Amino acid sequence: MKTMETYTSKSLQTFNGHVTIYNPETGGHRTFEIKTGAVDSWAKGRRFISLKTGPNYGDNTAFAFIWMDGTVKLFKKFEFSSEYHAYLRMLQIPEQYMARGLEYKFETTCRKCNRPLTVPSSIDRGLGPVCAGEATDKPAPKPGDAHRRPIYKTHRAW
Ligand SMILES: [Zn+2]
Repeated sequence: MKTMETYTSKSLQTFNGHVTIYNPETGGHRTFEIKTGAVDSWAKGRRFISLKTGPNYGDNTAFAFIWMDGTVKLFKKFEFSSEYHAYLRMLQIPEQYMARGLEYKFETTCRKCNRPLTVPSSIDRGLGPVCAGEATDKPAPKPGDAHRRPIYKTHRAW
């Protein structure tokens, strides 16, 4: 099951997943993947952003790292690319682009293992139960549970 989230300027810090940005005026779109690389890969366990292109989005162009503190850094080879700087801005300050009419679609995955998130508590923190260190012997959620949103206490001013 794929989970849709609202994409905000804080999303890069919390979530892995796929972000598709549409421009209704031109009909164009760009799809980005935010994921955590394997420890034994070139990414050495770090989170990075790729532009996905080609048939079935089979081509990945990794172009930036996301550090633990949420700082985003373009790879050296894209430092002078206005195109990739623009992509970073679209991902870092989405509110400004939404105000201009761009539309964001966001499917989240676990920030540690990149698996889809299905339970509301997992979606809220961007981590699946195993990666968040929760016990795994809980009963599976009943049908419909995955769609229930958590209830937050409201803070009254009086
Ligand atoms: Zn996980």
